[in-house]
Amino acid sequence: IITLAIESSCDETCAAVLKNGRYILSNVVSTQIDLHKKFGGVVPEVASRKHIENIQPVIQKALDDANLTFNDIDIIGVTYGPGLVGALLVGLSSAKALAFSLSVPLIGVNHVEGHIAANFIDHKDLNPPFICLIVSGGHTHLVEVKDYGEYEVLGKTRDDAAGEAFDKIARALDLGYPGGPKIDKLSKIGNKNAIEFPRVYIDDESFDFSFSGLKSAALNYLNSKKMKNEDIVVEDIAASFQEAVLEVLVNKSIKAAITKGYDKIVLAGGVAANSRLREMFDEKGKEHKIDIKYPSLALCTDNAAMIGCAAYYDYLKGKVSDLNLNAVPNLKLGQR
Ligand code: ATP
Ligand code: MG
Ligand code: FE
Repeated sequence: IITLAIESSCDETCAAVLKNGRYILSNVVSTQIDLHKKFGGVVPEVASRKHIENIQPVIQKALDDANLTFNDIDIIGVTYGPGLVGALLVGLSSAKALAFSLSVPLIGVNHVEGHIAANFIDHKDLNPPFICLIVSGGHTHLVEVKDYGEYEVLGKTRDDAAGEAFDKIARALDLGYPGGPKIDKLSKIGNKNAIEFPRVYIDDESFDFSFSGLKSAALNYLNSKKMKNEDIVVEDIAASFQEAVLEVLVNKSIKAAITKGYDKIVLAGGVAANSRLREMFDEKGKEHKIDIKYPSLALCTDNAAMIGCAAYYDYLKGKVSDLNLNAVPNLKLGQR
């Protein structure tokens, strides 16, 4: 089965072609980061317009790279939420038009499910069930993945997403957008024990997260240093902040695996690209004999290959969308 997948939920215009769900024939990502950089974040209307310019060439390139034509496509997978409504509509409209004209099934995919599915591409022997920590720009979810397409959310953030917290602190430190990779890099030369930032566990029982208190603590620290005209050691703030975020993510995930009786934890989403997060999970995993998996760097952040993989498993289960499918900006995990 050949899948054409399309993703346009935020600021990347993406198309990919996959064979039998887990094998990438092509994976094209056209990022708008440079366009949004000057605004310090993604401007929704600007993103939608750029997607319209990009979508057809990106799809064509995905076919060309795979050495295929539209006639070779068996199914079409597309992100229909969550994300920016205008951005989503560009990819979704293209996918619907193609599914109609080629008379092939359309499969609407939840973007967050796509992030999880990235792991199935990189780890050919990985199958559910497992515990998954999804950490991205908009989501921080601890999930029990019971089967393909079957999720139980154990906990999620009550305020900021992990990636969002990284981006906001990076912005305050004048590191630019997106901030996650910059904080990751700076942290390597900073002292993670320089500043004692709070670790917020909410309570012992909860698998929920909260990062807004930590964010305020970091911003307050920065402002008071500035007011007192004291030296600001950016790499120490970055490293100490990063450590505080990651420690909670790792400890809660390990606890979830132990409590629920799993020996496998899978990471997903843009923040799963973080080198210190991977290192901490690898260490803790060894200690508790829990197998840790994460996607290759390219499949951590937004791409269409992961959407194609999720679409393939939906298709096998008969979960096909009709052509009235609309964009759902606040689509929840496990909801259709
Ligand atoms: P969502 O998937 O929740 O809709 P999104 O698609 O914008 O949001 P992703 O593309 O999955 O998010 O990830 C982008 C986020 O990942 C940004 O917040 C970015 O700062 C963060 N990120 C990327 N690389 C790293 C890294 N090395 N360390 C920490 N954060 C990172
Ligand atoms: Mg992005
Ligand atoms: Fe994403």
